Amino acid sequence: MQTSPARGPLVSVFIVSLTFWLACGSAGPAAGQSLPLRTIVNGLVVRLAGHAVIQNGMIMAPYQGLFEPLGIRATWDRGERVLSLTSPAGDQMQLRAEDPYATVNGERRPIPIPLVVVLDQVLVPIQWVAETLGDSTTYDAGTGTLVISPQITDISWRGTDAGLEVSIDGTGPLHAGSSILHGPERLVLNVAGAVPKVAEQIDVHEGPLAAIRASRSFSGTRLVLDLAAPIQYRITSQIPGRRIVVTLGAPAPPPAPPSTYQPSAQKISDILYQHMDGGGRVVVVANRPLQAAQRTLRSPERVVIDVEDAVFLPVKKFLDIDDGLVIQVRAAQFHSNPNIVRIVIELSRPSPFEVRQGPASGQLLVELGAAVAGGPGWPVASGPHGPVVVAVDAGHGGTDPGAIGPTGVREKDVVLAIAQTLKRLLARQHLDVVMIRDADVFVPLEDRAQIATRGGATLFVSIHAHASTDPNATGTQTFYANPMSQPLAASVVDEVARTSGLATRGASQASFQVLVDTTRIPSILVETAFITNWREESLLRNPSVQLAMAQGVLKGIQRYLSMPLAAAP
Ligand SMILES: [Zn+2]
Repeated sequence: MQTSPARGPLVSVFIVSLTFWLACGSAGPAAGQSLPLRTIVNGLVVRLAGHAVIQNGMIMAPYQGLFEPLGIRATWDRGERVLSLTSPAGDQMQLRAEDPYATVNGERRPIPIPLVVVLDQVLVPIQWVAETLGDSTTYDAGTGTLVISPQITDISWRGTDAGLEVSIDGTGPLHAGSSILHGPERLVLNVAGAVPKVAEQIDVHEGPLAAIRASRSFSGTRLVLDLAAPIQYRITSQIPGRRIVVTLGAPAPPPAPPSTYQPSAQKISDILYQHMDGGGRVVVVANRPLQAAQRTLRSPERVVIDVEDAVFLPVKKFLDIDDGLVIQVRAAQFHSNPNIVRIVIELSRPSPFEVRQGPASGQLLVELGAAVAGGPGWPVASGPHGPVVVAVDAGHGGTDPGAIGPTGVREKDVVLAIAQTLKRLLARQHLDVVMIRDADVFVPLEDRAQIATRGGATLFVSIHAHASTDPNATGTQTFYANPMSQPLAASVVDEVARTSGLATRGASQASFQVLVDTTRIPSILVETAFITNWREESLLRNPSVQLAMAQGVLKGIQRYLSMPLAAAP
């Protein structure tokens, strides 16, 4: 445990001087000065457990009570003389008495003044520790006031079925009070004790939210959400207090398609996304060629496409992509009379993009990143059977919950979770994916095959959970309609049984509508497990079992694709 020998004497001299000043309780100009310190941590006045000492402008303060308001866990090991700290973000720091280095997430870092134990007091260089763990500090020597504040480090938003969800993230617990102000309409959040480390103004222009303004206030941070119209909102806390989520709901239900269904209007029936290496492509499917206005917005990066005189038949749709470039694609009926459909593509970084007509009439393509000019044509990964595009169909959705388990777990929710996991696994293997639904929405059975076909699917996999009046029915099973799909059904049921540890019920022939509609391509339906079985219901909602099932489907597909060509269509 011996550190640099040169440091030893210096540390000793410092401890002697600290001991001296603490013992005398008098002020001195030289080494250390005991001082009456007022400490405000995350908006709370904290009474120190003993004297603080100032040394070369650095405050050495007893650690007790200073970290709790910041959500930092502190443990002092008296025997080892080590103080261990864990920040809410999971950063770890160890300070050993008299050691001029701290260990931060396993790395050694020099500390301006080492931790010391004086007269049974454990003193830490509090500003350095707090700032290293992400918080902000200010010290006013005139009033002897030290303020330690969590920082608001990120503001982001995404569309959800409940409305626009604005997330405010901080380095420590955030406490917000809120009020609505009128004329112009705005929602004001006072986050006491925290300081802003985000842009002063963020232009949003999505749904009801025009912009977010952040500023310092007397008590902490004032966030103003500028609204386009009066709305309802809800504030919740996540990640034990470190994130505040504001859900902005629409004032009235979105316009129903029939009321905006004008004979002259162009109709957009779907928005699809195709991932490719280094880029991607949003496909807007309509009944006739579309004209669109395009622009970009910053922080976060977005491409905004407005299609005038158009009706969006699904009313709204969100695709969570997260493929490295595209974070989310949102499409909604932005305005009625005149009708405008707005498509927002949220990106992780600025990217070239190009809007052009697609190969089929009524297709508008937004090509991003590597897909722009010179990129390959339709994105394809090649298997031994040619290009592979997997349609992943999460059963049920929206108003159709599917089967419901004994404790109320809904088939539509667990199969969506498995389908979305499968999408990520397939993308990682550079296999293209068409999601039949990527949110809790109702998609009519007869539309599912069409969506797959439009996306160029070469394989179709429908994910379900089995149901039975016999509560003891158990195991995993696959179905196929066309005999050419039997090898795929057989390898998938094998692999799912293996990865999930469930019994296999084999691959059976059955005429489910989605399978009958997709007989041109290998097409199967996977009954992952029995949601009506008490034990399998709890497995189905377990994320690690969902992952295992998705891995099983992926392995089954890969095994099928590596089979000799004779086994394929
Ligand atoms: Zn089902």
